[in-house]
Formats: sequence, C-alpha cells, structure tokens
Amino acid sequence: MSSNVITRPQVDVVVLGLGHMGGPVAAELSRAGYKVAGIEKGPYWDFSVDWNSSVIHDEWAIMLERKFDHPLHLSTFTVRNNKDQIALPVRRYTKLIQYQSLGHGVGGAGTHYGGVMGRFSPWAYEPYSDTVDKYGESILPSNHDLEDFPVSYSDMVPYYEEWEKAMGISGTNQDPFIPGVKYPTPPHPSTPYGEAFKRAAESLGYHPYPQPSALISTSYTNQYGIRRNGCLYCGWCSGRCNYPCEVGAKGSSHVTTIPAAMESGNFDLRTHSYVYRIDLDSSGKKATGVRYYDAQGNINVQPAKVVFNGIWGFNLVRLMLLSGIGRPYDLDTTNGSLGRAPTLGDGPAVTNATGTLNMGANTYSSGNQAGGGFVMLDLSDNNFDHKGQNFIGGSAVSYGNYLGAGPNMVTAFNAGKTTWGSAWKKSIKDMKLPTKLPITFAPSGPEIPTKDQSISLDPHYNDIYGDPLARITINWGANRWRAAEYLAPKAQEILTKMGCTDVKVNKVPELSGNVDFWAAHIRNGARTGSKPATSVFNKWMQCWDTENLFAAGEICYPFGDNISPGTHPAGAMAYLAADGIKKYLQSQGSLV
Ligand SMILES: Cc1cc2nc3c(=O)[nH]c(=O)nc-3n(C[C@H](O)[C@H](O)[C@H](O)COP(=O)(O)OP(=O)(O)OC[C@H]3O[C@@H](n4cnc5c(N)ncnc54)[C@H](O)[C@@H]3O)c2cc1C
Ligand code: SF4
Repeated sequence: MSSNVITRPQVDVVVLGLGHMGGPVAAELSRAGYKVAGIEKGPYWDFSVDWNSSVIHDEWAIMLERKFDHPLHLSTFTVRNNKDQIALPVRRYTKLIQYQSLGHGVGGAGTHYGGVMGRFSPWAYEPYSDTVDKYGESILPSNHDLEDFPVSYSDMVPYYEEWEKAMGISGTNQDPFIPGVKYPTPPHPSTPYGEAFKRAAESLGYHPYPQPSALISTSYTNQYGIRRNGCLYCGWCSGRCNYPCEVGAKGSSHVTTIPAAMESGNFDLRTHSYVYRIDLDSSGKKATGVRYYDAQGNINVQPAKVVFNGIWGFNLVRLMLLSGIGRPYDLDTTNGSLGRAPTLGDGPAVTNATGTLNMGANTYSSGNQAGGGFVMLDLSDNNFDHKGQNFIGGSAVSYGNYLGAGPNMVTAFNAGKTTWGSAWKKSIKDMKLPTKLPITFAPSGPEIPTKDQSISLDPHYNDIYGDPLARITINWGANRWRAAEYLAPKAQEILTKMGCTDVKVNKVPELSGNVDFWAAHIRNGARTGSKPATSVFNKWMQCWDTENLFAAGEICYPFGDNISPGTHPAGAMAYLAADGIKKYLQSQGSLV
C-alpha cells in the first residue's frame, strides 16, 4: 500500500456511499449551494454505456461472477449465532437468488435490486407503545429491546413525498391502512393471476391494491428535472432481481439524484474510493472529515463541516466503531448503543400455505420484478386483533407480479435434473410458459430486537487493508414463526378462494442457530431514538455523540416492519437527514 497522503480542500458536506441514502443527501445539499464531496468505493455505472444491450446481456458475469456487486475480497463480515461461538467470515455469494449481494458503485444495491416498494404504516413508527398499550409488555420476549421511532408517521409524510417524487414510484392511492398516498406514476398493468388474487382477497373482505414499484411504469421527470424511461417489460430483470436496467426504468440514485448533484456544479464525485475512518477533533466530539484510499492506494484526507454516513448496514456501524465514535454495545452488560440489537429482514422458511392455480393458458413470462401484482396489509401490523396471541405484527401478503423467469442461464440452473436435450428444452418451456402456477403464501411476523444480538469488531478477521471486519452476533426470533402459525390458515383461505388445487398448510418447525449469511435488509444496529443511552442518532439523524455526523439507512430503524421490503422508508429517512444537515449548517449544535 502506497503511503502518499493527499489532503483535499474542505467541503461543507462529505457524503459516504452513493446509494439510495447518499444520493438524496448529495442532491439536496449541493443544490442548496453547499460544497459536497461524494466518496464511493465502486465505479460510476452509466446505464447507457455500461449496461447497453451489447454488454449487459451477460448472465454468467452478472449472476456467477457478480460483476455489479460488492467484491468480497475487499471486505466481508463474520457471523455467529451467540456470544459463546467464534464468528466465521462469509467468503462467497452462496445462493442463486442473491439477497446477499451488496451495492458497489454509484447507485449502490439499487442498481440491481428488485424495486418492490411501500411505505411503513403509522403503527411501524410506534410498535412498542401501541403494543404495550393494547396487549401489555408480556406479549414481547423477555429480553426484547423494542423502541418506537422518535418521529411519527405524519412527521415523515413530507419526506416520503420527496423520495417518491425523486424515484417516480408507480402505484395508486388505494390502501386503507396508509391513506392519502399519491404516487407520481400509475401502477403497472395487472396480470391475470394478480387479478385472481385480488378478487379472492376482496371476496374475503381484504383490501388488496397494486404493488408500489420503483421500476417505473411510464416515462417521468422528477423534481430535479431528471427524465427517465418507463419500463419496456423486456423481462430482463424479472423473476431474479440481480439485473440492472438498460433503459434506466429501475430507480436508484444513479438515475434519480446523483445526476442532479452533478448538474449543480457543487458536487465532487470520487469513485473507487474506500473510506476507512471518520476523523475526530481533539475533543473527540466533532468530526473533522474522513480518510479514504483511492484507486492508486493513496491515502486521501477530506476535511468537512458535516459527514453523512450512507455506506449501508453493518458497514455503517463498523466505520463508526473503527473511528472511535459513539458507545459500542456490550453483550455482557447490555450497555451501549452502537451495534445494539440488530435484526435481519429476510429469514428462512416458516409455516406456509401452498396451492396450484390452473390458468389454462400460458402466462406471460416477462415484465419486471416489481409490477403487475397486488398487495394487502390486512394481515400485518396491528390491523387485526392480537389479543390472546403470542406474537406482534404480521406481514404484507402479495401476489401476481410478472412471472418472467429472467435470463435463460439461470433458468437452466433451476430447471431440474436435466441440463441438455429435449427433456431440458421441455423443462425450460414449462418454466418459462407455465399454465399451472404453484403459489406459496408465507406471511410471518417481524423480527423483534433482543439484547443478545450485536454488531462489533471481529478480533480475528480483517479487510483487505488490515482493519477488523464487522462481527454480527445474530439469530432468528420466535415472533416470525408464531405469527406464521396463526396466519398460514388465513392464507390458505385466499388460495382456496382463488380456485387453487392441492391447497394445504405446510408446517415448518421453529428454527434457530443457523444464520450464516447477511440479508439485504439489516435493521437496528445504529438506531434513531429519543434516548441517547440506547440510540445512536436523534430524530434528525444527527449522532448524539458527534454532532456533525448524520446517517440514514435501514440499520438506523429501531424496528423493521414486515409490510415493506425496507428501502422506501429509508429513502424518506435520507430526506429527513438532508433537512437535519441543512439546519445544522445554519445553526450548529444539537438539533434536539
Ligand atoms: C438483490 C437485492 C434485491 C433487493 N430488492 C429490494 C426490493 O425489492 N425492495 C427494497 O425495498 N429493497 C430491496 N433491496 C435492498 C435495497 O437494495 C437496499 O435497501 C438499498 O439499496 C440500500 O441503500 P443504501 O444507500 O443504504 O445502501 P447501498 O445501496 O448498499 O449503497 C451504499 C453504497 O456505499 C458504498 N460503500 C460501502 N462501503 C464503503 C466504503 N467503506 N467506502 C466508500 N463507499 C462505500 C457501496 O459501494 C454502496 O454503493 C434489495 C437488495 C438486493 C441486494
Ligand atoms: S423489465 Fe423493465 S425495468 Fe426490467 S430491465 Fe426490462 S425495461 Fe428495465
């Protein structure tokens, strides 16, 4: 490693990570006249160049060589299920459907995610107080660490609206549980099997509405004047969500907000730049800027008045731990807030309901990952009575998005035992053009934060530059399975109403001690809250311990609800943080 040190001129704001969180902050602050530097470890992906049709249709490179994903040789993390185990590093992408693949480059994971959207409900902002009011504390696990957000849903509405405008979210205003939402672009055309789900759900008194989507249904110009194409329903990114979009319909910061920052004339983009420290002044209370390695291995010092940490999930926690910021969580004493009680949004199989829908004709196997279907919130949150139950929450139930099996190579891997000849061709045809649709509904409960989980620095394993990896101590909670036991029979009723055959409930016993991967949706860990003892950021996403450090991301939620995949509420949080930074640059000091 070269030891050249390059010191850059001071900027107002240095934005770390240019994904869904960094993009809005970079755009808002640079357009407001502040000097902003954006530091991103990956490249600048230009959809019209990097993803034009002559280079993008390379399934091997995308799915197996992971060419658009975070390279694990740079850094990974270690995982264990409890504090008595030695954590081991994750060294490879392990599944074909890669919820584990992380962002790398301008746009972050949003360049190749699924784009399924949805706001959190009012309940998700006050899960603790509402639960205790209605059912008493005893419904929660004895070692729970559940807290409310320090903001209410209505506080967040203006920020949701900014995020939705920037992204051009497609959908309608039909959800009775989160009323008043007006998405800027219409929903995608519905599928026949989505309509079958909708009819069945409505006949049972439920309230399905079109799936909100970040893969936009029509061409659209956002509040920054950035124009994007609508989805062409080419099928490339459907079925599997690891494929970037060659026309720019898939919403992420590289096509929604970063171009606005670049146009402002106040934004300095640094790609291939790996941040490894936030520097503090002699009081240890204020950040002076950051240090990063550039592509040549030079150490760059970037002084800044404000640091925004948008590098996602456990990276965000790790950078703060490495920099000596905040109060690290201690599993033995349960004191500390940084790295406290993380939870995973994605989990293993739970008790579920299955059936087969006979469409009688080929279903259209194209379109994108996040459109054409319907979603209902009747079996989620506190939208049904939990009296006498041993779980809280529930989850969204959705069905009917375009089925497209994605590119052929992946289909070939999934087709079954045969990999060549006429049997293989038939299996591909049956998969690509099915007339019978196997359906699984698996509504479950959200993960409840507990005090036996943490993110800390690993004592044994390092990244490529010699810094300790993040170590995650995490496990699955019973709430997920308990809710599924209750909800699966209700899902079974929907399948029966849809006219499915072979409808049944499949019992899956509660599982524990098997978490060996990371999920795209990791929550808590660096939560926003109203108590400095247990939270890292106040309601403006300003760090309690370092007043000029701000952040946003799912890892900052105190609770991860099961009704949204998660990015949509985090996007709103990024706009809230941008507002907080503007306030701080005007008046300094603590904002609460
Ligand atoms: C396959 C897949 C499918 C998904 N589908 C959905 C979905 O349907 N709906 C949904 O809501 N969400 C989905 N997600 C999750 C969604 O992509 C993320 O929630 C979202 O991208 C997070 O945004 P972010 O800005 O916090 O992080 P990222 O998008 O990861 O951006 C962070 C950026 O920081 C950079 N960075 C990290 N470390 C450093 C460092 N040390 N120095 C400099 N830069 C750094 C990274 O390169 C990255 O570009 C999916 C994710 C994946 C991987
Ligand atoms: S299906 Fe739509 S969003 Fe997906 S790659 Fe094709 S045009 Fe883009």
